[in-house]
Amino acid sequence: RPVIAIVGRPNVGKSTIFNRIIGDRLAIVEDKPGVTRDRIYGTGEWNGRSFSVIDTGGIEIDGEDELLRLVRIQAELAIEEADVIVFMVDAKAGITNADEEVTRMLFRSGKPVVVAVNKVDNLQRMDDIYEFYGLGFGDPVAISGAHGTGIGDLLDAAVFKLPEKEDQTYDEDVIKVAVIGRPNVGKSSLVNAILGEERVIVSNVAGTTRDAIDTPFEKDGQRYVLIDTAGMRKRGKVYETTEKYSVMRSMKAIERADVVLVVINGEEGIIDQDKHIAGYAHENGKASVFVVNKWDAVEKDDKTMQHFSNSIRDHFMFMHYAPIVFLSAMTKSRLSKLLPVVNHVAEQHALRVPTHLLNDIIADAVAVTPPPTDKGRRLRVNYATQVSVKPPTILIFVNDPELMHFSYERYLENKIRASFDFEGTPLRLFTRRKS
Ligand code: GDP
Repeated sequence: RPVIAIVGRPNVGKSTIFNRIIGDRLAIVEDKPGVTRDRIYGTGEWNGRSFSVIDTGGIEIDGEDELLRLVRIQAELAIEEADVIVFMVDAKAGITNADEEVTRMLFRSGKPVVVAVNKVDNLQRMDDIYEFYGLGFGDPVAISGAHGTGIGDLLDAAVFKLPEKEDQTYDEDVIKVAVIGRPNVGKSSLVNAILGEERVIVSNVAGTTRDAIDTPFEKDGQRYVLIDTAGMRKRGKVYETTEKYSVMRSMKAIERADVVLVVINGEEGIIDQDKHIAGYAHENGKASVFVVNKWDAVEKDDKTMQHFSNSIRDHFMFMHYAPIVFLSAMTKSRLSKLLPVVNHVAEQHALRVPTHLLNDIIADAVAVTPPPTDKGRRLRVNYATQVSVKPPTILIFVNDPELMHFSYERYLENKIRASFDFEGTPLRLFTRRKS
């Protein structure tokens, strides 16, 4: 997803606009101590394009020096991360010193910028916005956060400037593998171990923004691309200070992947943070493999692996389908088990099942355990068909979708999985009315 960042001084009205853009979609607030706290991101959609939107945040500040420092940090983050920057200014305050500072930075970056002049409560009164042509970013857009006016025009302008689509494309037969997980779980080590060499981390080239390092490689006749966000951490001072953007990068890496390796530190066990990112892979319909790393450092007996597996199953119930691989990136012990599992789940992720087999299985399932009745009415399952892959998506035609209960859908899913494997991939089942 492309990223739109909103920058501007405190009190210029950023969060009001942010909220209007994301509507009732969920905003994620990252409350990290330090200078960059209160960064918020969400998703929006306009003219058929979906995008992420970041409010580069409010920080309490005292004095003009602090203010300048703050706007600099914001602008730096936006320049590094965003595809389009919405630069908010205040019609009532005019162009301030801080605005000029941001202008200089945005100008140098060459990123597309849309100037949003907020607090123009009467959009007819264009006098209020003329001075903002002087910033040099083209036509300013007059908006009112308070009245909700002008937002559509602003989004028209911002979405128009978004880059076309993904730049990086790979052949169909290349398996795209994202390596994700919390800091220090051993992602970089795992990437190096897979690639079989100490990779050189390229230093930041000014003006280029990349979300991940893509490394193509080939093993036993299969081509892969490793999408690695870990190495990026070392790239810039801004990046180091922003946990938040590491989450964003992981999300983007997941969106581009076929298979997501969810790396967990075997020494530490599972932490809540592990769940968020794995959940994102699930929701985006990606195949997943749990990789329990640092297995060399764990004191084990013959039950340890089973216990750890159980714990993963308890914490990630929604990802019951994902296989678990225990290994050590450092000693490379059990490393050879990983790629065969990746191959397998990638295959299942792209699996297409014949309609007649699917319907036989569903008919059997319905015969063994008929759907429950609801107020005297019974769900009737007529037929099913797979409509897409990556992830496999199945439409189930029924007499009335309202009669399909979650538990019964789960039952059908389990029956389908029992017959076709589908290991490592989420399955999507949708019910449609058709008698
Ligand atoms: P990242 O932040 O997820 O990329 O983690 P790194 O790859 O930088 O590794 C973090 C730390 O864990 C480093 O000190 C590694 O040497 C160590 N580490 C990584 N993999 C293993 C492993 O398999 N076993 C052990 N014992 N340590 C590991």
